[in-house]
Amino acid sequence: MKQHIFLASPHMSEEGYEQQYIQEAFDTNWIAPLGRNVTEFEKEMAAKLSAGKAVALSAGTAAIHMALKAAGVSQGDFVFCQSLTFSASANPIVYEKAVPVFIDSEEDTWNMSPEALELAFCKYEKLGKKPKAVVIVHLYGICAKINEIKEICEQHEVPLIEDAAESLGTVCQGRYTGTFGDYGIISFNGNKIITTSGGGMLLVNTEDAVEKAAKVLYWATQAREPAPWYQHTEIGYNYRMSNIVAGIGRGQLKVLDRRVEKKRYIFEYYHKHLGNLPGISFMPMPENAYCNCWLSVIQLAGDCAVRPKDIMRALEAEDVESRPVWKPMHLQPVFAACDFVSQVQDLHIMDEETGADNSVSGQLFAHGVCMPSDSKMTDEDLQRVCQAVQELW
Ligand SMILES: *Cc1c(COP(=O)(O)O)cnc(C)c1O
Repeated sequence: MKQHIFLASPHMSEEGYEQQYIQEAFDTNWIAPLGRNVTEFEKEMAAKLSAGKAVALSAGTAAIHMALKAAGVSQGDFVFCQSLTFSASANPIVYEKAVPVFIDSEEDTWNMSPEALELAFCKYEKLGKKPKAVVIVHLYGICAKINEIKEICEQHEVPLIEDAAESLGTVCQGRYTGTFGDYGIISFNGNKIITTSGGGMLLVNTEDAVEKAAKVLYWATQAREPAPWYQHTEIGYNYRMSNIVAGIGRGQLKVLDRRVEKKRYIFEYYHKHLGNLPGISFMPMPENAYCNCWLSVIQLAGDCAVRPKDIMRALEAEDVESRPVWKPMHLQPVFAACDFVSQVQDLHIMDEETGADNSVSGQLFAHGVCMPSDSKMTDEDLQRVCQAVQELW
């Protein structure tokens, strides 16, 4: 019997660290959204990444929501957000009744195009408007053009939020992703490089990180005022991470480097065994960056007879999971009314079935496949995947 191969699934430490931290929580009866594991997990993560302040939350989505609030985003504000991403990068903008403006990607990094970002600033400046925040993503662990984007944001004095949900462990120019922006967010969902079963963290890297982090903690714990009775002057949220979940996180953090190494090995394996197939190319590996390779993603040339759905179908027949590249937010029906800024002129739909257009993000979506990248995959598993793909050629 051949085993099912997942795209990416939870991979607990070989040593059982997670169980030890959970046991500690049970022994001390801190089965609550507070306790030693929560505060230690924050300290350990901030130390590992050299981040300002870390706040452990119930999800990466909650972390984005809190980052937006900390950046002062509120009703009617514009937020420039990378279009090629998972919907969780953009949804919290709408939670705050703010207005997302989607920005196209560039070929070099697949992430936000600095050129399109400049265009967006110009366009909105002419309308007398300025965004309240910019949300960039390091998709699949690939580092965005962080220096260029940071410079543009600083020039316009707009806070930068780095969605590092997929890029924990990626290093750019000697620094971890999530520590460049005013705010960085991490996700510990079940499919991420390390998981707590579900959870997230906000990294605050501003000069006033201590106060900002305290404010986020206040919002995330029901906005309770320091009074002997329940006193509230603001709307709060129940977003704090549980002490059990944080125990899993502490154990997982110990094996992060090991997981990154394995993910990079998977990428290199595919590159070596599939890289010569005509029409296939791989996600970019920007210079001066060490990518966590959360998922190994390929692109098929427009004139390649093999289409992404052929690969996904062939793998499914082998009981192997694969996925399309994220469908950009500007092509999603739910965001149909939102503006989209691209460096590509003459935007038009190329594929009626999927709705893909000729923007950079639209084309990455149209031609991409996320290959199975589970860190538990063996060489035999990788060989099985490669063989199924090679047979299509
Ligand atoms: C997973 C993910 C999130 C959301 O994180 P959750 O912990 O699932 O809420 C946000 N952005 C991106 C790019 C993601 O991949």
